[in-house]
Amino acid sequence: LIVPSWNPFCNIIKEIFEAVRPLSDGDVATYIPQLARQNPDSWGVSICTVDGQRVNFGDTKNPFCIQSVSKAFNYAIAASDLGADFVHHFVGQEPSGRLFNEICLDSKNRPHNPMVNSGAIIVSSLIQSKMNMADRFDYMLSQYRKISGGEYVGFNNAVFLSERLTADRNYALAYYMKENKCFPPEVTSMTDALDFYFQLCSLEGTCESMSVMAATLANGGVCPLTEERCIESRPCRDVLSLMYSCGMYDYSGQFSFHVGLPAKSGVSGVMIVVVPNLMGICLWSPPLDKLGNSCRGVAFCKELISRFNFHNYDSL
Ligand code: GLN
Repeated sequence: LIVPSWNPFCNIIKEIFEAVRPLSDGDVATYIPQLARQNPDSWGVSICTVDGQRVNFGDTKNPFCIQSVSKAFNYAIAASDLGADFVHHFVGQEPSGRLFNEICLDSKNRPHNPMVNSGAIIVSSLIQSKMNMADRFDYMLSQYRKISGGEYVGFNNAVFLSERLTADRNYALAYYMKENKCFPPEVTSMTDALDFYFQLCSLEGTCESMSVMAATLANGGVCPLTEERCIESRPCRDVLSLMYSCGMYDYSGQFSFHVGLPAKSGVSGVMIVVVPNLMGICLWSPPLDKLGNSCRGVAFCKELISRFNFHNYDSL
């Protein structure tokens, strides 16, 4: 067993889960009604190890839209299908040092990285670009379900419609990128590219299913529940590198300093955290801090690192 003292481990996770619960910091996102209606008291923690041990505390069966966490998996899937070199022809690897939705490009006129909106729109546009929109959506749903070992992955159409209705900035980003010839020539419809990006933000998971998805990343791209390879090994390494440097918006530098683990957060209050070769963690609590990360999620990670030697450089 990868975690030999499983019950003592779970007891400490429970302690941290309970210690973080009373936190009342932060605000639930309000830019779309579907997120504004989320319960600020929702709080779930799920862990799945690379050998399939599971533990769940709190609201771990409640569905939520995965929002920006999709950026990590979309990149991993695109790079597995097309090769990392091809994908990085169109998007960089550098933290932007700017807001996640800022209108800016790097010195080669590419989005800075796949974890900001501009980069994620480009990455979405590359995925199965020869298929029609229905088949592309089905393709991604089946890839997500494979990565989650068949656990819950849904689609929230109300979130999709709201995202599309309030997408002025994402339209502005796409037009700016079109003007600067950021899209590959085979991408002919900018609105299709945006719709696909909004649809992927509107996929739903639960703490339980997302912990399996994170565990697949921890396990080098092989789902620990099914032993099926879902992500090629180089894209798996690459997405973890990008999550480490760019996964937590403008808190990414501080998060990698204090916590030292690859992670990705989303505006619904979801966070996935990967302990390579050990486990995937999903945290969900809707109130966000000023930088857009889940308050309880970040607090949980700091406490986790004070109890266990999971920081990337703890082993030195
Ligand atoms: N869907 C929203 C956008 O594209 C927010 C994504 C996120 O989780 N930050 O702007």
